[in-house]
Amino acid sequence: MEKAKLLKLMYQYRSLGFEYFKELKPIDKKLISTSANSLHEIELKVQNCHLCPLAKSRKNVVFGEGPQNAKIMFIGEGPGANEDESGRVFVGRAGQLLTKIIENVLNIKRESVYIANIVKCRPPNNRVPTLEEVTACKPYLLEQIAIVKPKVIVALGSTGYHHLSEDYNTPISKIRGEILEYGDAKLIPTYHPSFLLRNPSAKKDVFADMLKVKNLL
Ligand code: SF4
Repeated sequence: MEKAKLLKLMYQYRSLGFEYFKELKPIDKKLISTSANSLHEIELKVQNCHLCPLAKSRKNVVFGEGPQNAKIMFIGEGPGANEDESGRVFVGRAGQLLTKIIENVLNIKRESVYIANIVKCRPPNNRVPTLEEVTACKPYLLEQIAIVKPKVIVALGSTGYHHLSEDYNTPISKIRGEILEYGDAKLIPTYHPSFLLRNPSAKKDVFADMLKVKNLL
């Protein structure tokens, strides 16, 4: 009964224009830090990284790309074959779809957002990166976030969301579209473009999530 009253109140507040942000387990802001002065400085060390076994099988490190003052960051899982080949992030079919989402729904150029992955080297056969690999690689991503200082971070897919938030229990289908606190940024999880290629009916959900992103800018 109490829960029902609370829910009703929240809906009333929302109808009056109040935004409701779900609390994540607080992110230790100290982890989002770097001694580097630029993305380039971080990239130089990542290009020579051998901290995890993915270094052995990669062709290229895929650091990420975008302007240092981007307002939005998109974070995916890891490089695929095209990305490993080219050293560029999100350039395959999923990348083309991501570009369309950015340009047609957010109405901004892909070049104006920052795009990166949870791991910077391709896991063999596109398998999901292991916790060991993510643990080794994620500090680089946190350094990138510390430099870019985005207003909004979009976590693409469950791997992106789970490892960024360290909430390993909530499926992406339950959490997508929520606006969460992440350090000084808002974090919005949504489906990965690769999932959309297999499940085009989920595009409408991502469209709705992108409208939320737009409203936060
Ligand atoms: S995935 Fe990350 S931690 Fe592993 S070798 Fe590549 S850059 Fe280093």
